[in-house]
Amino acid sequence: ATMPPLLSAIANAGRHGVLVKSAVAMERLGQVDAVALDKTGTLTEGTPRVTDVRPLPGRDLDEDELLSLAAAAEHPSEHPLARAVVAAAHERHLELPSAQDFASAPGVGVRALVDGRTVEVGAPARLLDDTDGDASPAATLAGELELSGRTAVLVVVDGASAGVLGIADRLRPDAAATVAALTTLTAAAPILLTGDNPRAAAHLAAEAGIEDVRAGLLPQDKTGAVKELEGAGRKVMVVGDGVNDAPALAAAHIGVAMGRAGSDLALETADAVIVRDELAAVPTTVALSRRARKLVV
Ligand code: ADP
Ligand code: MG
Repeated sequence: ATMPPLLSAIANAGRHGVLVKSAVAMERLGQVDAVALDKTGTLTEGTPRVTDVRPLPGRDLDEDELLSLAAAAEHPSEHPLARAVVAAAHERHLELPSAQDFASAPGVGVRALVDGRTVEVGAPARLLDDTDGDASPAATLAGELELSGRTAVLVVVDGASAGVLGIADRLRPDAAATVAALTTLTAAAPILLTGDNPRAAAHLAAEAGIEDVRAGLLPQDKTGAVKELEGAGRKVMVVGDGVNDAPALAAAHIGVAMGRAGSDLALETADAVIVRDELAAVPTTVALSRRARKLVV
């Protein structure tokens, strides 16, 4: 017997390294006319590296102390930025104190009790609010790093800013080609949804050929952007990897997760998973769906 077209398309997608979870999902992939891409771990390689460790004057922490406190707090987190911080501490052969009472807020950062001190690590825009003003040394330092395309991460110890880490991530080699292919296939320019700061986001988006950038978003803001597009009659595909992307993946007509470093929640929520780490498999799978649907109808 010959296989129904959507099932052969699923098998075909599998050969291209994409796990499509159902025939409905396979069909929907070809209906997409708007694409929203996450930044960290999706458009970028997701293996960011710490490039700057900058303790703030007056807090009596040196670089290694700042980094080991941050790494201890980040240790339980599966966020790509957290892995970068922990890797940097290991590279310097720092011993990490153990952390208690770990908590994380998607799109914001982490908090934990380290050696009797409360350590918060995360987005300056979210953590600065209560402690510093815009002109504070922490905000100025973060702004400088962001202007050079880095993600600045603030370290707050016992409620006061203690330092800033600069983290750099690389665009995936196939990002620009993928954006171009998706633009052609869907007759619409993909947009970027990110929790990262507008400056770093604009830097990367420009490299990838994306103009429409929505930055500083919390998970619910990503969902809001998807719902707005769907409300306007668009069939939206979201491509993401993080816990912070899960609500948007669920809200979209079709959610696609990056598999290699993707969070469990994103993989479970998505309708399709890029198992091999190639973003270019996304347009390929859309094209496979289009072909299968022509055979079905
Ligand atoms: P994206 O949408 O680009 O994947 P996220 O929503 O995951 O980014 O994160 C947005 C911002 O929140 C990050 O740029 C960072 O400032 C902060 N953040 C989130 N999780 C962490 C973490 N574990 N450690 C440090 N910062 C974090
Ligand atoms: Mg991400």
